[in-house]
Order: sequence, then structure tokens, then C-alpha cells
Amino acid sequence: MKQNNGQTPNNENLRVVIRVRPPMAREIRDGKFISTVQVAPDNLQLCIFDYHAIELVPDEDLEQYVSNPSNYTLHQFTFDYVYDQDSTQEQVYNTTAALSVDSTLQGYNSTIIAYGQTGTGKTYTMHGFSFNPNSDQLGIIPRSLHNIFNHIQMKSNSSTTFMVRASYLQIYNENINDLLRDSPTLNIREDKKRGVFVENLSEWAVRGPAEIYQLMRKGNAKRVTASTRMNDTSSRSHAVFIITVEQIEEKVEGKSAKVGKLNLVDLAGSERVRVTGATGQRLEESKKINQSLSALGNVIAALTENRGAKPHIPYRDSKITRLLEDSLGGNCKTTFMAMISPAIDAFGESLSTLKFANRAKTIKNTPIVNQDGDQGALLRKYQLEIQKLKQELEERSKQPLENLVNELEKEKQKALEDKQEAQSAYEQRSNDLFKETELRKQLEEKISALNSQMLVGGQKIEETPQFQSALEKQQRLIRQQYQEKLTELEKERQSIEEDKAQTDKYKQLLLKQRDIMIALTNRLNDRDETILQLQEELDVYEKLQKENEDQLHLKQIRLEQFEEIFLEHKIEIPLMLQNQKQNNKEKVVDIQNDLQIQKLESIPVQTLHTNQQVQSDALISYELKNQIEINKQLQFDMKLTRIELEKSKNEIEQLKKKQNQEQTTLIENARKSVDRILEQLTSEQSEQNLGNVAKELNQLQRMLKQGLQPIRNHVKGQYSFSKSTSDSPNKIVLINKQNDQMAKSTGQLVKLMQMKPQPKQNQSPVQSSKLKQKQKSVEDLWGQI
Ligand code: ADP
Ligand code: MG
Repeated sequence: MKQNNGQTPNNENLRVVIRVRPPMAREIRDGKFISTVQVAPDNLQLCIFDYHAIELVPDEDLEQYVSNPSNYTLHQFTFDYVYDQDSTQEQVYNTTAALSVDSTLQGYNSTIIAYGQTGTGKTYTMHGFSFNPNSDQLGIIPRSLHNIFNHIQMKSNSSTTFMVRASYLQIYNENINDLLRDSPTLNIREDKKRGVFVENLSEWAVRGPAEIYQLMRKGNAKRVTASTRMNDTSSRSHAVFIITVEQIEEKVEGKSAKVGKLNLVDLAGSERVRVTGATGQRLEESKKINQSLSALGNVIAALTENRGAKPHIPYRDSKITRLLEDSLGGNCKTTFMAMISPAIDAFGESLSTLKFANRAKTIKNTPIVNQDGDQGALLRKYQLEIQKLKQELEERSKQPLENLVNELEKEKQKALEDKQEAQSAYEQRSNDLFKETELRKQLEEKISALNSQMLVGGQKIEETPQFQSALEKQQRLIRQQYQEKLTELEKERQSIEEDKAQTDKYKQLLLKQRDIMIALTNRLNDRDETILQLQEELDVYEKLQKENEDQLHLKQIRLEQFEEIFLEHKIEIPLMLQNQKQNNKEKVVDIQNDLQIQKLESIPVQTLHTNQQVQSDALISYELKNQIEINKQLQFDMKLTRIELEKSKNEIEQLKKKQNQEQTTLIENARKSVDRILEQLTSEQSEQNLGNVAKELNQLQRMLKQGLQPIRNHVKGQYSFSKSTSDSPNKIVLINKQNDQMAKSTGQLVKLMQMKPQPKQNQSPVQSSKLKQKQKSVEDLWGQI
């Protein structure tokens, strides 16, 4: 037994699978079939039996002959998958082709190459000879496209846009032809971005399964096939079906494009001329096919033999190897599918196919995802185009409605007039025709009446030659006139027909225009609805503004109350406070005016929301929010002021009390001092005593001088805010305190009048920065007002 599993197949970039087709009717003799192939249950190994001189064994001895191991040599191979003769199209797709389709959807180049002798099932595996989407006979090409469309449908809710295109070409006698379009022979080109490609090959956007079958039918009909002895519809050309999937995904960080390509290659069959019996043109074709297949063999040999660092690979020896350059040792995930027949007749071909496939296992491919920014260019171009067209449509829809309506009305009027004209012309012609027929009838009756009455020389007058010739002349004349009339009428009829056609055209036009009118009316209704909505929003804003004004008004009243309090306490109202009050009034008027202007500006001219409108709405709502904020702050500040005033009052009361106490103490001290003087005076007189009395008197005098004035003032209940040099230190402190308090209150009020919310001390940095921002915008707004 010969083992050919040189290495464990584990190369996901290059997979090799074998499919054994079932025996054909002509290969079964007397209901019996001797197979040369046996597939292992694990679907990884396969044995092929080389029966010695089996062609010499009579049919009846065959069964016994093949069961004797001494009559055969066994060759064993290992591959990525081996499909036996019972395998279905679905199994082949799911376990092999689906992997290539997945790679394509991930943005790789993938290729599936069907290789094998003619009649082994390459076309069956690739195409499947069925155009019915539900058929289990469908081959890899239609199943791949179905799979791609299913994938796209699953992703229909995501932000990925897809574009699927298909091309189909054949290489016949080393000439490349487009199978989907009539074109001259095409050439292979290579560039850095696209790699190897066929120049001017048509690409067809495919949007659904129906379009796949249409393209396959079209291409297959063009593909050159001819009948050979081995396979009745043998393919004489290599066919390559190319599916390109472009996808653009919109992510947060931007758009990313991927382009995956799936090449599905159905090679022409390798065949031995001797077996097929080809002659003439067929022989030439066979030679070309075999040449290109041996070129493929050479490329694989060069790729797999270890010939130094950079061996020469003869890709350029044939069109197919040049075209598959990327698939063979390049940027591609490739699957070789080698088809074999289990028949004894095909043993030689089957063995060489298996050897070829076994060799291909060692090819090394290095695929990469095609994610270049330039990739997906077509899809991107289409997206830009769509955007442009949308803009154009938008521009067009902005055209004034009246113009369109007027134009439609005019065209309608004209169509009606034309119709009426055509109808009356038709009626006129019909009348003329009727009259003419009547006249002719009368004439004929007259002639026959005359004829029946006249006789010439025993003969009826109509039998005389003179009459005959006169009659003929007359008849010719009438016929001629009749013919002329007929021609004229025919012309009239044609012109009426034309008019009628024109009328129909107008009618169609009118119907179309009516549809446009309906669509436009719908759009107008939509606009009205938008205007109503905006009006509602405006009303809400107005209401808020009204509330604001009320708040302001309230503040104004409060201010006036303060004024009264000031007056009541006979405190001079600072000029600044009065100015602020006036300003406040003016601001109310300004806000009202401003609102009026905003109201006018916010009424939309167009129903479509323009950016300015959105901005103006936002500005109004922003301003309103700020107003509310200001008013809240205002209320808060008012409260603060009230508390402050309350506090001041208390302090004044306390100071009053303290002063009373001090004055009482002073009086008490004075009284004590007088007592002491009296005591000194009533006791024994001495120099010392007199000195003490004089001291005591001096002290009393100073005390009284300092203390009597405030007592008098206090008794009268009069306060002055001006500092006097004669004031006692306590009184100065009191007055200073009162003045400070007043200044504080006045400042508070001025602040209130300015109506600018102040940041609170204990706010967090984030809050205060927010507040600063807010304050700034409020300041800006105030600047505007
Ligand atoms: P090739 O393209 O290799 O020349 P075809 O695909 O034309 O061969 O197949 C030859 C014939 O064999 C066709 O009639 C096809 O239906 C049949 N055939 C090939 N493979 C199978 C299979 N796996 N199951 C059933 N019939 C097959
Ligand atoms: Mg074929």
C-alpha cells in the first residue's frame, strides 16, 4: 500500500477536498459497478485500487478478481475532507464552500477551484444545473449568493451598507471573454491596489436571488460547451464566477470599508485525447485546455518545491494561472476541490487528480483583510451620489407651489381645448363621409332608373356600345372621384387618430399631475401641522414670559414697600436705588418689546425646520430659563435682605439698651462722686481733703461733660448718622455700625435692582464653575436686553 499523506492537512488558508461522483448509467455493466475508490468513514482518507490488467479479465470473472488483494495495489491519501458518492450538494456547501463565503464577508479574497477530469462533476458542484431556488441540486454559486443575501438581511438593522456585484468570464482557447456582456477579448492587468484583474470586465450589482439566476442563465448560455464522448455537455472552457462584496460600516470613530472577493472557478476538464477521441477543432481545444492545466500543475509544483528564497513561479504561462495568481500562493484563502470518477475506466485520471490535489496541499497562502481606505470606493461613490441626489430633490421640492399649480392648470386647459377641437373635427369628417355616400347612392339609383327606361334600336340603351363606353367613362370618373375622396378621408382619419393620441397623452399627463397635486397637498397639510405645533410651543413660551413679568412686577411692588419703610424711618433713599428702580421699569418694557420681536421672528416662513428657527427657539427657551433663574435668585435675595434688616433692627435695639445701661451707670457714678464730695466737705477739713475734693470735682465735671449730651439725645430719641467730634466713643461705634448696616442694606438693594444672581460661597468647584457660566450667559443676555 502506498501512503500519500505527506503532511497533516491543517492549513486554513489552503484547503484541499475531494468529491467522488456516483457512477453513471454507462459505467454500470449488467446492473453491477466495480468502484476503484473507497472513502474512509472519517471523511478524511481515501483509497484508490490499482487493479492489474483488469481490462483483460472477462466480465463474469470481475467480481472475484477484484476481491483478491494480490490483483491490486492500494494508494491511500489524506485530505481536508473527502466526499463520497452519496454526498449531497448541501453537505458540500455547508462543510466546505460556506467557509469561503464567510471569509469573503470578513473582507478576504477567497477562491474555490473545481479541478478534475471531464464528466466528474465540476460544473454540477459549482452550478448545479438548476435555477430553482428551492432545488436541492443547487450548486455552490447560487448557494453562496443566497448565503450572502441572508447575511445582509440579518445585518439590515445595523449601520453596515453592503454592495454585491457579480462578474462571469470564461477562458476559451486562451482568450478571455465576458460572459455577461458582448465584448472583444479581454486582457489581464495588475496594479498595486487591485492586484491581478481583468480589464473592462463587466460587474453587475445583484440585489436578490432572482438576479443571480438571471446572470447565471445568461452566462451559461454563452459559455462554450461541446459534446465529447465522455460528457455530453462537456465544458470546453475555464469559467470564473466572481462575487465582490463591499461593505461600509459606520462606527463612532468613523467609516470603515471592507472588500471581499469570492472567485468560483470551474475548470475545463482534463482529458486524455486518446480516451475522448477528439479530432480537428476539438483536438486543438483539448491541447489548449491540457496546456493550461499543465501550466497550473507547474505553478503548483514551483510553489510546493523548495527552490530557494524566491523561486520563479510561472504564472504567466497561461491565462488561468495568471488570473489565479493571488489564489495560488498569494493574498487569498483557497479551496481546491478535486472531482474524481470511481469508474475503472477513469482510474488513470483519478489517480493523477489525487496526486495533483495531494501536492496542492502544501501551497502557502497569506491572505489579509482588504480594509484599505480606497477599497469600497464604488459603494462610497454611490453613497455620495445618493446624498447629492437627495439634496437636489430637496431643492426641487422647495420650488414655489403656486408656479407648479399654475403650470398644471394651464396644461390641463390646453389639453381640454385640444380634445374638443379633435372631437369636432372628427364629427365634421364623419358628416362629410355620410353625405358623400348618400350622393353616390342617389347617382347610382338615377343611372339604373334611366337604364331601365331607355331602348335603342330594339336594344336596351345600356346594351349599345356608345352607352357602354359613356357608362364606363362615367364610372371611371366616379371611381376616381370616389378614390380621391377616400384618400382625403383617410388623411382626415389619420389626423383625427393623431389628435386622439395627443389627447390621450394629455390625459395621462393630467393624471400624473393630479398625483403630484395630491402629494403637494399632503405636504402642505404636513406644513400646517408643523406650524400649529410651533404656535403651541410659542404660546407656552408666552405664558412663561407672562409669569416672569408678574414676578418682576411683584419685585417692583416690594421695592416700593422698601421705599416706604425707608421714608418711614426717615432714611434718605440713595439716588442709585431710585435709578435702579427706573431701570427695572424700563427692563420690563424692554422684555416685553423683545418678546414681541421674538414672537414675530419665530413664526416660520417655511415649514421645513431651518437651523435658524431651531436656534431661535432654543434661544427663547434659554432666555426664559434664565429669567426664571434670575427671579428665583431675586426672591432669595429679597428674603436675605429682609433677614438682614431684621437683624439690623435687633442690633439697634440692643445698642439702645446698652447705651441706656451705660448712661444709668454714668448717672450712678456721678451721684456717687457727689456723695463723696459732700462727705469730704462735711468731714474734718484738711489740706488733703480739699485736694481730694478738687480732684473729685474735676472728675465729675469731665464725666458730666462727656455723658450729658448722649443722655439728652437718648431722652429725645434722636439719631444722627453724621459723625461728630463730641460724640462719645460708644455712640461713634453705634453710628458706625448703623451706617455699615445701612450701607450693607443699600448694597443689597442695589444688588437686587441689578438682578444678577451671585454665586454662593459654600458651593463646590463644579457647581460654582457652572454658576459662573450661567452668570456669564445671564450677563450677556442682560447686555442684549
Ligand atoms: P464536469 O463539469 O466535471 O465535466 P459535470 O458537472 O458536467 O462534469 O457532470 C457530469 C455529469 O455527472 C452530469 O450529468 C452531472 O449531473 C453528473 N454528476 C456529477 N457529479 C454528480 C454528483 N455528485 N451527483 C449526481 N450526479 C453527478
Ligand atoms: Mg463542466
